[in-house]
Amino acid sequence: MDKRSDQLHIYFLPMMAPGHMIPLVDIARQFARHGVKATIITTPLNASKFSKTIQRDREMGSDISIRTVKFPCKEAGLPEGCENIASTTSTLMYLNFIKGLSLFQNPIEQFLEEDHPDCLIAAPQFSWAVDVATKLDIPRLAFNGSGFFPLCALHSLMEHKPHLKVESEMEEFVIPGLPDTIKMSRQKLSEHLMDEKDTPVTAIVKDIMRAETTSYGAIVNSFYEMEPNYVKHSREVVGRKVWHVGPISLCNKDKSQRGQDSSFCEQKCLDWLDTKEPKSVIYICFGSMAVFSSAQLLEIAMALEASNQQFIWVVTQTTINEEQNEWIPEGFEEKLNLNGRGLIIKGWAPQVLILDHEAIGGFVTHCGWNSLLEGVSAGVPMVTWPLSAEQFFNDKLLVEILKIGVPVGAEAWSNRTDSTVPINRKDIERAVTKLMVGQEAEEMRGRAAALGKLAKRAVEKGGSSHNSLISLLEQLRNAKITSN
Ligand code: UDP
Repeated sequence: MDKRSDQLHIYFLPMMAPGHMIPLVDIARQFARHGVKATIITTPLNASKFSKTIQRDREMGSDISIRTVKFPCKEAGLPEGCENIASTTSTLMYLNFIKGLSLFQNPIEQFLEEDHPDCLIAAPQFSWAVDVATKLDIPRLAFNGSGFFPLCALHSLMEHKPHLKVESEMEEFVIPGLPDTIKMSRQKLSEHLMDEKDTPVTAIVKDIMRAETTSYGAIVNSFYEMEPNYVKHSREVVGRKVWHVGPISLCNKDKSQRGQDSSFCEQKCLDWLDTKEPKSVIYICFGSMAVFSSAQLLEIAMALEASNQQFIWVVTQTTINEEQNEWIPEGFEEKLNLNGRGLIIKGWAPQVLILDHEAIGGFVTHCGWNSLLEGVSAGVPMVTWPLSAEQFFNDKLLVEILKIGVPVGAEAWSNRTDSTVPINRKDIERAVTKLMVGQEAEEMRGRAAALGKLAKRAVEKGGSSHNSLISLLEQLRNAKITSN
């Protein structure tokens, strides 16, 4: 393809974690459909997860490609092949992984010098990218994979520190200055907010925050109609230039093969769902990183059995050192096969494909930002079961602001080596029943369906996210013309 002089060339540098790579690769593909030359930079192992999709886009005429850089596992103190955050199994490995990202600087700086793209869209974990982009005079936009509400809530906590003024982990406080009255407690927050002095984790977080705030602006996978007050708050109070381009999962026709191979169960899921009544099945999945103890998995199994609801359950890994199948009650799977009430997926599920099936009536989620948006896009209400990170903010958005969530009652972070049972079967059964049965469930379903329609409208031509993307591209084109 001829290189047109007015064609924008944008580099995309996603954090190597499924919840970051999936949306940023989708965003790169969407930019390419708008005429941008898109280059995605990642490691060979991560590239292999979406190279076929990119090849298909190229065949359809998109100017999109992948450049790979070897991840320096050994130098970073990680086992060979540990190229994704989802493969880390301890805090030390996680810290090594983040530190290892700095070893990318030289090769990527070289790419940038060679190509001199018109913009770099990078995860803030690559904090050095801000300095490199400034040095080379390339506008840099941050993409942190989260939404406006969690961004505003975190900003307020860092600014006002209300959590340091309460006396216990459980005592509630209001997050100051937000458009809604949102209460939090310390046990729902990341430890780095508690530390006044520098620890290895706080140092990393501060560096990430610096990268975010010193960027030209940020791209957010969200849409205006879902959190209008927080789009305004981000611009007016937090003071960020932001462009909302989501829900990005709605921009692709191909809903399967996102992030990892799920072909082993796609047809089985669809065939099974086709036999069910509309809105009669619950989908249960806790994202790409969650780890539960065997005891906790058993509680979920017993609750599903007692609830009498039909379900598809994606079973995540069990806590480190536990056998994958140890928790399954005798005869549980056989019974499901016989009565057709449930399907268990052990592995990577085709989440968007499942959520979009008309038989799905509810979603039990850990409130990862992508899952939240995918649930909203499919127009389904959710049981909220936050586990860590900004998921406790996302829970508030679903339950208290959008009013399409039933909390399971998760009150504190759970960690990856936890062998306890934070949520018991009665609580799970209560939440699932409330989600699927009765007047309140009907009302929630109505609100979720209405929001789902707005989500679809946002990414169509003339919709809010579509317009926001066009306006960003216009600004970048103008900047390119001015600098030439
Ligand atoms: N996902 C999937 N199949 C799975 C598990 C996860 O397709 O079995 C996708 C899901 O659709 C979402 C992403 O992985 O796009 C998970 O991102 P999220 O922000 O929800 O959670 P995280 O994994 O970052 O905690």
